[in-house]
Amino acid sequence: MVGSCHCGAVSVELERRPEFINDCDCSLCGKTGAAWAYFAVDEVSVRGSTRTYRRVDRMQPGVDVHFCGRCGCTTHFATLPHIPHDMIGANMNLFDREVLTGVELRYPDGRNWDGASAYGYRRPSEIL
Ligand SMILES: [Zn+2]
Repeated sequence: MVGSCHCGAVSVELERRPEFINDCDCSLCGKTGAAWAYFAVDEVSVRGSTRTYRRVDRMQPGVDVHFCGRCGCTTHFATLPHIPHDMIGANMNLFDREVLTGVELRYPDGRNWDGASAYGYRRPSEIL
């Protein structure tokens, strides 16, 4: 199954349907506008060039969030090397609803762990 950003410059192809989708309300997921499904690196093919955002409110962010440099849609995230298991998160908002029929949609309590990460949290006043 293939999804794409709004302008079509970036596409994300998945080897399989997701087991579930996380519509997380932590600040990163909420503000990047993504509903994530998680895959092994070899299950995902991304075509087209992306730009990345690495969250600035953590001492040691866990992922790079990728987005289309033309239309701005969040396409996926990729774990950084210090994370034990490589993983890709695909933004399921890029995909047609028809191909996701029946997939469980979860609402994790992201807001509550947003400020309590083991990797350290920077207060807004510490961010440039
Ligand atoms: Zn685009």
